[in-house]
Amino acid sequence: MTDQNLMEKIVALCKRRGFIFPGSEIYGGMANSWDYGPLGVELKNNIKLAWWKRFVHLREDIVGLDAALIMNPKVWEASGHIANFQDPLVECKKCNGRFRADHIKEGVCPNCGEKGSFTGEQMFNLMFKTFIGPAEESANIAYFRPETAQAMFVDFKNVLDTSRKRLPFGIAQIGKAFRNEITPGNFIFRTREFEQMEIEYFIVPPKQDADWQGPFELWRKEILSWIKDDLGVDINKVHEHEIESTERAHYSKKTIDFEYEFPFGVSELYGLAYRTDFDLKNHEKSSGKDLKYRDPETNEECIPHVIEPTWGVDRSVLVILVDAYSEREGKVILKLKPKLAPYKAAVFPLLGNKPELTRLARKIYLDLKSDLMIAWDDRGNIGGRYASQDEIGTPFCITVDFQSLEDKKVTVRDRDSGKQERIGIDELKKYLKEKINGKN
Ligand code: ATP
Repeated sequence: MTDQNLMEKIVALCKRRGFIFPGSEIYGGMANSWDYGPLGVELKNNIKLAWWKRFVHLREDIVGLDAALIMNPKVWEASGHIANFQDPLVECKKCNGRFRADHIKEGVCPNCGEKGSFTGEQMFNLMFKTFIGPAEESANIAYFRPETAQAMFVDFKNVLDTSRKRLPFGIAQIGKAFRNEITPGNFIFRTREFEQMEIEYFIVPPKQDADWQGPFELWRKEILSWIKDDLGVDINKVHEHEIESTERAHYSKKTIDFEYEFPFGVSELYGLAYRTDFDLKNHEKSSGKDLKYRDPETNEECIPHVIEPTWGVDRSVLVILVDAYSEREGKVILKLKPKLAPYKAAVFPLLGNKPELTRLARKIYLDLKSDLMIAWDDRGNIGGRYASQDEIGTPFCITVDFQSLEDKKVTVRDRDSGKQERIGIDELKKYLKEKINGKN
């Protein structure tokens, strides 16, 4: 399978089975916008839940936040986004296509193939502008946030005062961000509207480099462990790329991009940056409000420094799909980690037209469904139903047959090995939960 082929197959599978649809399709679509369908929203929610559990619920030093998307425009002046959040844009003189200069390979126009025929670079700000209220005047300009991070700085004092956390501590947020990307593309990899999961981790101002390098290293390991253990993605396809000082974002003193071997090339999955005290210092200056942390024991005041790990939700979905996609005898198997799979199991009566089988199967289905996402299917032959569930990554299929009426056991079939086991109906929920929460 070529890489191009793989992407096409994934996009087709997503459409066919209701993971991801082209946005506004009945109106001819809307370039590079995508809608998450019934299965896609489950997969995406499972990723977000796993992240929130790992980094907020299971930790004592991180609290959550869910802030407004549109903030006071002064936020973006202070953060440097209005002045600096820009990419270099070039235009092809032949086809007038516009591209991000750093995405052009060997001077060739990605649209018409013309070589070396671009205008000079022009900086293009990626912020999405809008107007607040009925008058479209410059005084009413506002911006959709290009990152979730700034709210964690703007709300820093409120969170600190109400949660009474001590340094080091973090604020976590999951939410939409908007960027007027010059060259969106590669399915959900780069879109203009996407979701982020971010943590601003506040530390005591470092006296020496080791004081920030320590927590930076801990977060580096956390990101790798999340990819391997929570997403179940092949860590050998992940590469760390330290960004040169000239290429780093305006606020960062060190940045590592975590890149993955996507079918369209090695590209950024997540990021980790040491943002110093850049943001809090600027917000304190611009707002005129005291944003200092006061140590409860020594009463000493400081502006904390920040380590920022950042995860794209949509890129998480994509990396999981790419990594989990496999084929067995020409049929698709999506080897999703059970915890992330949209359905944890599917229940089938062996035959769809036998009321005694359907009755027992419905009872099992409804009982499991009160705790887990469970699919139901009573159409066609069992082989076809297995194949249909394999394609959407359902890890277990449960078949109720005539013997089940006698021995109160069902056949549980494992997606990846194809192995079948007879399990007592009474033990089924416990069995599934152990399998789902286990290490597989
Ligand atoms: P890139 O270099 O790919 O443009 P970036 O370095 O600008 O990305 P960050 O500002 O570090 O990205 O954003 C944090 C995370 O948000 C990224 O690691 C990525 O997972 C996600 N992300 C950024 N831009 C987009 C986008 N346009 N579409 C989807 N996800 C995105």
